[in-house]
Amino acid sequence: MDRVIETDVLVVGGGGAGFRAAIGARQRGVRVTLASKGPLARCGATPMAGADFTLDGRSMSQIEGLAGDPNDSPEKVMNDIITQGCFLNNQKLVEQYIRRAPQCLRELIEWGIHIKISDQRMIFTTGTGIMDALLRKARAVGVELLEDITLLDLVTDDGAVIGALGLDVRSGDFIEFRTKAVVMASGGWHKAFWPTTGMRDLAGDGLAMGYRAGAALGNMEFITFCCNVFLSPPAWMGSIAPYVLSLLAGGGRLTNSLGEEFLQKYDPYTVKVGITTEWNKSFISHATMREVREGKGSPNGGVYYSRGDVPWEKIEQVAALMCPDWRYKAIDLSNWGQMLKNNEPVEVGSAAEYFDGGLVVNDRFETDLRGLYAAGECALGAFGANRVFAAITEMLVQGADAGDNAACYAQTAKILAPGRETLFSLQAAAEEPLRRSDGLNPAKVRRIVQEAAHKNLGPIRNREELEAFRGFLENVRREQLPNLATQSKSRIYNKEWLDALELGNMVQLLEIATVSALIRTESRGVHYREDCPLTDNDQWLVENVVRRAGDGFEITPRPVTVTGMALPTGKTPYLEFMKKMMASHSDTGGKH
Ligand SMILES: Cc1cc2nc3c(=O)[nH]c(=O)nc-3n(C[C@H](O)[C@H](O)[C@H](O)COP(=O)(O)OP(=O)(O)OC[C@H]3O[C@@H](n4cnc5c(N)ncnc54)[C@H](O)[C@@H]3O)c2cc1C
Repeated sequence: MDRVIETDVLVVGGGGAGFRAAIGARQRGVRVTLASKGPLARCGATPMAGADFTLDGRSMSQIEGLAGDPNDSPEKVMNDIITQGCFLNNQKLVEQYIRRAPQCLRELIEWGIHIKISDQRMIFTTGTGIMDALLRKARAVGVELLEDITLLDLVTDDGAVIGALGLDVRSGDFIEFRTKAVVMASGGWHKAFWPTTGMRDLAGDGLAMGYRAGAALGNMEFITFCCNVFLSPPAWMGSIAPYVLSLLAGGGRLTNSLGEEFLQKYDPYTVKVGITTEWNKSFISHATMREVREGKGSPNGGVYYSRGDVPWEKIEQVAALMCPDWRYKAIDLSNWGQMLKNNEPVEVGSAAEYFDGGLVVNDRFETDLRGLYAAGECALGAFGANRVFAAITEMLVQGADAGDNAACYAQTAKILAPGRETLFSLQAAAEEPLRRSDGLNPAKVRRIVQEAAHKNLGPIRNREELEAFRGFLENVRREQLPNLATQSKSRIYNKEWLDALELGNMVQLLEIATVSALIRTESRGVHYREDCPLTDNDQWLVENVVRRAGDGFEITPRPVTVTGMALPTGKTPYLEFMKKMMASHSDTGGKH
């Protein structure tokens, strides 16, 4: 082994959840090492976020300088998160979200974030601003920070995690980590899809390595597709700027390739809520994909967005807030500004944005595997079948508790050295694509897998396509993964090598999500089956929990965790149930 690093708590992931967990654990006095696959504070989804932080308006109104609706309450937020999640939420985690959020916002303010807007139950800041504040705090409390380190696998002993194998991307060296506890905070698996809104480092490594080590995954079929994402030109592809602008400006015009305003065929109430609130992701992605599947899509599989009736002055006002000088997350959108002014359409569509499922945790953020905790987007969180409230809050409240609990565990656990044989066989497996002289190009295989995932596991699914996709993935696993070979044999910053290492994880997660989607013979939240179009509360208020079994996996239904809100019964058509859930919102306004 090239290097050995010993710590008490190893945090995997340098997004908001990872940093918040590391700060919390370090404040308990243990040694904490945070390993980030990309550059510190500039990788993962968090810097890409707008970003909104949601909490109950009453608590918010008690923080100096913020708006907040004093008539809002934790009970109303509980009602809203659970109805938005179509009752599939773990209610214990919803309570934790609500309870922990005010404190997390106060901390962020103390640590120096800049608030751009505050409304009834939300503040709007920036993802980069949050990351900068967390980075400063982590440095101040003495977290050991490692960047460009990819964790490859966890090592266990007697049912507990005791270490991990990492790869230093800059040098190609392997690192042996010895640790008492691990907090997995590796984010989503956006890279398994194309188009995608996420950063290129989010390949689901953490979920896959946690699962391989013995932790359970849950609700992997629930994948949120953001709507109104640029599909062309290539330089803008994947940017969510039209999504943010249309939401803040309160609408615009969406048309199919025949020039039809296709939202007109839906119930007007659903359309209104589906345009003006963050229900837009599930509703508009569904409606867009329907046009595409009916052959009325744009060349890149989307539809068209123009400002329609929204006055140019309103667009200018929103743009000044979200993308000053028409620059959004470092992309120059000044041409789009001109197009909006002239009311010319741009090509937009749905792209993978958020993963509702993940590593199964309890309300202490412990997984099934002793010593392994999970927080943020890689955990099966509070949002059930559909997320409208902020994932930014989720990553922080979960990171805070996961870090705290992992540190307490580490205070009594022992350091053990991972077995030599285990480490060497993991290392040898990772080196195979470098050693193979001839074989398949990892990036090419990846793109084929990504496009097939978007097509078959997108916002609209059916049995026939899911079964065919399952067969395709099995073939990739058996025939292609064992034959991946990098052209460059350099170990230094070899992105092809990383592609090859990530592909196995992505295929593993896609297979699990596909079978979970096949098994769930209903439609709910962001999972719509055109061959099973009812929301079935009698049979499907359960989580699909996935565990390794032999060479494959088994999926067991687990009843939803209920604390305060009774579950509905009966079967209802998908869009009718969605409308009912929209209408169940409390009287607190805003976009959440
Ligand atoms: C474009 C976009 C915009 C969004 N906007 C909003 C918004 O406005 N409001 C909102 O509430 N939510 C938003 N979301 C969702 C939200 O940003 C994420 O859910 C949240 O930031 C996830 O935080 P995280 O810390 O769990 O993961 P991430 O921020 O994704 O961080 C994951 C980290 O894990 C690292 N990692 C991955 N694999 C490994 C490995 N093998 N070894 C080591 N490190 C690894 C990554 O490099 C990264 O550092 C948005 C998402 C996207 C994609």
